[in-house]
Parts: sequence; C-alpha cells; structure tokens
Amino acid sequence: MLQYKGRTFTAGEVKRLFEERYPHLKVDWVQAADHCIDHICKDACQCAQTEDAIFHRPAYTTYIAL
Ligand SMILES: [Zn+2]
Repeated sequence: MLQYKGRTFTAGEVKRLFEERYPHLKVDWVQAADHCIDHICKDACQCAQTEDAIFHRPAYTTYIAL
C-alpha cells in the first residue's frame, strides 16, 4: 500500500483497490475498517490499532492510507 500513502479512500474504493491488486482474493471479506490504526471492531485484523495498520480513519466512511 506504500504507493497510496496519504491518499484518501472511501470504503468502496478500498474494496476496488483490493480487487485490482489481489484479483485472486475474494474481496467480500475485505473491510478497510478492520485495518485501522485508530479503530478496532470485532474480528478485526491483527494490524488494527498497531503501527502495522493500513489505514487511518478520520471519519466513518473515509480511510487514509498510512
Ligand atoms: Zn490488517
């Protein structure tokens, strides 16, 4: 995700991004909200709330790549 650093995405754009980058993956389960440095939810990724998180979530549907 490094090349997207600082870019702002909506949840839908994040989904499309994963589809493009990882066409072999089933993206239905890809939730940007699971990979946020400042947000955690049930069953979130291990990177949530750690320095390895992919996104910063300044607003409910806005994600900024870290
Ligand atoms: Zn993650």
